[in-house]
Amino acid sequence: MSNTFIHTKKFELYITQAQIKQRIEAIAEEINRQYAEKQPIILVVLKGAFRFAADLIEKLNFPLEIEFVRLASYEGTESSGKILAQDLGLSNLSHRTVIVVEDIIDTGNTYQYIEAKLQTLQVASSMMITLLFKPNKYQFEKKPEFIGFEIPDDFVVGYGLDYDGLGRELNDIYTLKEE
Ligand code: 5GP
Ligand code: MG
Repeated sequence: MSNTFIHTKKFELYITQAQIKQRIEAIAEEINRQYAEKQPIILVVLKGAFRFAADLIEKLNFPLEIEFVRLASYEGTESSGKILAQDLGLSNLSHRTVIVVEDIIDTGNTYQYIEAKLQTLQVASSMMITLLFKPNKYQFEKKPEFIGFEIPDDFVVGYGLDYDGLGRELNDIYTLKEE
C-alpha cells in the first residue's frame, strides 16, 4: 500500500517497516555495546514511541527496566509550542542511567523538557534515542545521541505516530502529501 488516507488527508509511503527494522538492528548493536553493564532504565515517551521501543528492546541483549511517560505537544499537524504533560512522577530514575526512547524530535521542545526533568531527578546519566529527527525544525544545540532517520519538515504518520489519534497501527511510515 503506497498511499493512505487519514481524516481526509492523503499520505504516501515514506519509510518501510523493513528499513525501520534494519536501522533498529544497527542502533541496538551500538547500545548493546555501550550500555550492557550499566543496568539502564528505558524511558519510553508515549504514545508515539511504543512500537519503536518494543522493536528496539527486542534487539537488546542485557537486563533492563522499562518506564513510561506520556507527553504530547502536537495538535493536528503542527507543534502547539507547549508541552501537554501529565505529572511525570518517575522518582525511581534518580541515580540511574536512563535511555529515553522517542518517536520523533521536531522543534526539540519535548526533548528539552524531558532533559530538564531528568536533571531535577538527579539521574546518573541520560541519553536520547529518537527514531525520527527533523534537523531543519530543531531549535537547540545538543542533538540526540541516536537518530534513526533524519527527515525533512513534513508531517509523518504510522508505526506509532498519529494524525489526530489515527494512523498509529500502520506498519510503515507515511508522509503528508499536500494537495
Ligand atoms: P517537539 O517537541 O520536538 O516539537 O515535538 C515532538 C513531538 O511532536 C513528538 O514526540 C510527536 O509526538 C510530535 N510530532 C512532531 N513531528 C511530528 C510528525 O511529523 N508527525 C507526528 N505524528 N507527530 C509529530
Ligand atoms: Mg513523541
